[in-house]
Formats: sequence, C-alpha cells, structure tokens
Amino acid sequence: MRGLVKFVLVEYEYKQKFEHIFQFFSNGLLFVDEQGIVLEMNSQMEEILQADKSKIIGFNAIKLLDLLDMSYESKKAFIAELIRFGQAELFCEMQTFLGELKYIHMKVSKQEDTNVYLTEIHDESEKIHMKKRLNHTESLSTIGQLAASIAHEIRNPMTSLKGFTQLLQQTTNEDGKRYLAVINEEIKRMEEILTEFLEVSKPTNNEFEYIELKELLLEVVNFMAPQALLKNIEVSTSLQTECTCKVLGDRNLIKQVFMNSIKNAIEAMPKGGNIYITVSCTEKKDVCIEIRDQGQGIEAAQLDKIFDPFFTTKSGGTGLGLSHSSQVIKSHGGTIEVESKVEVGTSFKFILPLQK
Ligand code: ADP
Ligand code: MG
Repeated sequence: MRGLVKFVLVEYEYKQKFEHIFQFFSNGLLFVDEQGIVLEMNSQMEEILQADKSKIIGFNAIKLLDLLDMSYESKKAFIAELIRFGQAELFCEMQTFLGELKYIHMKVSKQEDTNVYLTEIHDESEKIHMKKRLNHTESLSTIGQLAASIAHEIRNPMTSLKGFTQLLQQTTNEDGKRYLAVINEEIKRMEEILTEFLEVSKPTNNEFEYIELKELLLEVVNFMAPQALLKNIEVSTSLQTECTCKVLGDRNLIKQVFMNSIKNAIEAMPKGGNIYITVSCTEKKDVCIEIRDQGQGIEAAQLDKIFDPFFTTKSGGTGLGLSHSSQVIKSHGGTIEVESKVEVGTSFKFILPLQK
C-alpha cells in the first residue's frame, strides 16, 4: 500500500500524465494541504462520499470529518496522532452527503516531500454486510444442531405420554375421554413435527455422484403426481431435450429439495391448478430447474423469511422444508431464486452448476 501511496503522490505532482490512473484508482483518494484545504480528489472518492468534487475542492477538510460517526474526543485523538506520527488510520461508520451509511477504512498520511496530506478511503460496506449475513447463517446452523438433539431427547418422554393416555382412556369417564382424544391429537402432531425435523436434520453420507437431473425429476414427478391429482392439481414438465443436465451431488438430498418444493406448491393451491416444471441450461454452465405454481403466492414482507428454519404460515407446517432445501442447494454450489405474486402464483428456481 505504501508503494501505491508514493506512486499516487508522484502522480499528483505530474497530474496531467497520470490523470487516468488517479481517476480510476480503486480507492477514494483526496489531497489536503497544510491549512486543511482540499486540493484534489478522484472520482472514486466522489462516489464514496456521494458528492460532486466541486462541493469539496477548495473547502476545509473538517467538513468531511463531520461525516464520520465518531465522538469529538476520538476525532481529536485521530488528528493528534496524524500530526505526531505523520499518519493515522481508522475504521468507522460514515454518513455520506446523501445520508447513506457506509463502513469505511480511512488512512491519512503526510507526504514528506510536499507536506500534502493524502487521504485514502476504502468502502468496506459490502464486506461488513456479508460478514453480518454469514454470522446470521452460522448462528442458524448452530441453532439447528441444538434443536436436532433436543428433538431426539423429546421423543422418549412423548412415547411414555402416549402410553399413559391410552391407559387413562380405559378408566376415565366420557368428558375425560374427550379431553384425552384432544391430547392424543396434539401428541400426534408433535410427533409429525419431530419426524419431519429429524428427517431434514439427518446427517447424510455426503456421497456425491453424477445425477442426470431430467431423469431424477421424472422420478419425483411420477411419485408426486398421484397425490397432486387427488387435490385436482396437474403437474406438467418441460424438459429441454438438447442438453444433458448432469450435476454432481447427493441424489437423495437433491430429490428431497424437489419433493419439498412440489409439496409446497400443492399446499399453496387448495382449490387445484397447475404445477409447471421446467429444466433449462443457462449459458451451458448452470442448469435451472423451475417449479412454478398458480397458488396463493407469498407476501413481499415474508419473502426473506421463508428460508428461516421454523418459519411457516401453515397451521400444520414445520417451516423446515425450505431452510433445508437452501442448505442443500448451497452445499452443492447452487442458488435459489423466488418470484411470487399474491393470488397469482410462485416460481422457485433452483440453479445448480452443470458437470460436463
Ligand atoms: P412449511 O411448508 O412447513 O410451512 P417450508 O419451509 O416448506 O415450510 O415453507 C415455508 C413457508 O414458505 C410456507 O409456510 C409458505 O408460507 C411459504 N411457501 C413456500 N413455498 C410456497 C409456495 N409454493 N407458495 C406459497 N407459499 C410458499
Ligand atoms: Mg414445506
């Protein structure tokens, strides 16, 4: 980095010659003279500050310090350090001239030969946001593991509860029997949740093999179509024939993803309708499997929650299907895209890297 600073300084002195490099340098650069007046800045700096250079050049650099989300004391300490050592740096949050919040890494250094201060700003916002998202996913997977072991532990006491309610059935009066029937129903429901939960959190043997997706999809459709038909739903497929769609993956896991998605589509159409399944190769690099329904759709506010474990809008739902699917697709190097319109329908696109 120091080398670059030196380089840019030389460039400042011979501005004409190096104008191009200065303007297109990936970090924001700004020069301030000894009186604190801004001399020059590049277009990257304009972008970071969200301000035109005409509003900054010729003005006091204090105007820029005001943008930083720091206490007065910290700003004083920063300037003191700069004066004492000739350089200082900090990470902080900054509010741009348009009011947007950014995370920045700022370095200021005094150039000995010219007494000009060079300020270099790197916008770290995307990195910080990504880190936050990552932490969120990590904590979700820890929660998932914890929940799986709790689910195991709950199974045994539930079995004994079931046994005792059956015994009570024989000795209680009519009212008691009605209450016991309700208790039994609820136990059954708890069991269903646990079964589905343990199913999706089950560790797999992670055996990857080449899978011909079209073949696998036909298998899934043949399995699901009769259930769909009972609900007045027709499943139709359009499998682009010219490409062989081979992916490398865990066959059972990939199968579960499509079964879950078709199951969700069926559940979204209580009055019947159509499910369209399309396979297509995109730029010969990826394969896209789209499962589209004509169901109730997903409200915009819920779109970013549907992949969270336990998020469900169904009275009998577990909210585990999509969270599991997203883990599976991610672990296969793929992505999921959702588009939905309330009362019109939903489309899930599963995009997986193709194997040649
Ligand atoms: P569950 O099916 O047990 O509710 P999922 O993780 O499979 O759990 O789905 C989470 C939520 O996402 C569902 O409760 C529903 O609100 C929404 N959802 C998923 N797929 C669809 C779909 N095809 N149409 C409408 N909503 C859907
Ligand atoms: Mg589901």
